[in-house]
Amino acid sequence: SVRVRFAPSPTGNLHVGGARTALYNYLYAQQKAKSGSSAFVLRVEDTDKARSTRESEEAVLRDLTWLGLNWDEGPLRQSERGDLYKQRAQELLDKGLAYKCFCTDEEITAMKEKAAEEGKPPVYSGKWASASEGEVEEMIQRGEPYAVRFRVPQDELMTIQDAIRGEVTWNTNTLGDFIIMRSDGSPVYNFCVAVDDADMSITEVVRAEEHLPNTLRQVLIYNALGIEPPKFAHCSLILAPDRSKLSKRHGATSVGEFKEEGYLSEALMNYLALLGWNDGTEQEIFSKDELIDKFSLERITKSAAVFDKQKLNWMNSQYIRQMEPAELERRLTDLWVEKGVLVPAEAQGEATGTIMKKVVEIFQEALITLNQSVDELETLLHFPLEETLASSKAKKCIEGGFFDVAKYVVDSYFESGELKELVETEPENFKAYIKKVGKELGIKGKNLFLPVRICMTGCMQGPDVGDQVFLVKTAEACVTSDALVS
Ligand code: GLU
Repeated sequence: SVRVRFAPSPTGNLHVGGARTALYNYLYAQQKAKSGSSAFVLRVEDTDKARSTRESEEAVLRDLTWLGLNWDEGPLRQSERGDLYKQRAQELLDKGLAYKCFCTDEEITAMKEKAAEEGKPPVYSGKWASASEGEVEEMIQRGEPYAVRFRVPQDELMTIQDAIRGEVTWNTNTLGDFIIMRSDGSPVYNFCVAVDDADMSITEVVRAEEHLPNTLRQVLIYNALGIEPPKFAHCSLILAPDRSKLSKRHGATSVGEFKEEGYLSEALMNYLALLGWNDGTEQEIFSKDELIDKFSLERITKSAAVFDKQKLNWMNSQYIRQMEPAELERRLTDLWVEKGVLVPAEAQGEATGTIMKKVVEIFQEALITLNQSVDELETLLHFPLEETLASSKAKKCIEGGFFDVAKYVVDSYFESGELKELVETEPENFKAYIKKVGKELGIKGKNLFLPVRICMTGCMQGPDVGDQVFLVKTAEACVTSDALVS
């Protein structure tokens, strides 16, 4: 049976890197579930009391759920597993695979300074490694505090077969006897990870490359516990387009932010799957089921992946285009209610339903994110005529005398109740009407449509002008404009 885990530290939001790690573990477990049994365990690594918060844990869990990455076991919290770590440390002490170290902070500092002077790595000198039982007993009688140190076998080569990186070898000499329990009784991070992975019978550890150096300590602990280490797969970094570390200054980096910006969870999942993995073909749009079928650890790329927002945008627009119109209608309605564009009571009404169907027609091919539909309405409601007229292109329109034509079109539109109704039932009609007037007056193309658009909507860009006019109507009909103006 395959058992994998995602082990977030609840010290902030779920970032795209963490989400990708969770996704790969999830896909792997789901795939293995088809041919046998598997489990995806969620473990919360909250031993760092100063930095871990419950709010952060809740946010991480919420974002995982939003992405559809459901776990089978957990959340198991390291903060609630202190007894286990104590017990395992005691076992190692009993077997002589760990020992009590009474060195003071001053002694450790002096040791490091000396090593630095001699140009040696700052490893523990082994002062208490071979102390007699009597010496140790005496210190304990005196109430001296001690840490528990792991006895690192000297001069051994440790090799792991990483599913992504291949063979990775370390010499244990690079490591001094390291602490597994501090003198205040708290367990050290790498010890907790190894004890937990062993206790939870984890078979594959799929995680970020930054944890590769920890693997040596963890494998040594496994060996000491007499348990076969899991297989490892260390995923490469995610970089920004400028190849620096992806961070806040590159824009949204957390799952919650993308959710807020109106990205679809399916699209983000698809994008993250391809951020460092491919199935060897050119295919880019994968359903969740396809990802589960095709995913493999071996095809995770070794080189760093570059986070490309353009590609995510493209993918999101693809998902919006492929969505069932009824589904898009439901999502846009929910979003418009959430954003205060629609009054909740009206959102259920038949009239709104009819309007929203048209809204879907207008937007389905045009949106990158769902939120853009709200932005579009917001712009139209603000009627940004002044800003628009400040541009030289718009000025040219007026100077050319085309504005008068546009005014004529618009005025006659507002005078004719019949025309308005035509537009409200089918936005296409408005275009036909403009064309008709244009023909009568001998104007066509941009010279006709642009001024009309500016007059009607205050905008120079946007969807089809008839659609825009329809949206203005929609906005007037169902908008709680206070919400938008604020
Ligand atoms: N808690 C670690 C992190 O959030 C993960 C450790 C691991 O996967 O072994 O980066």
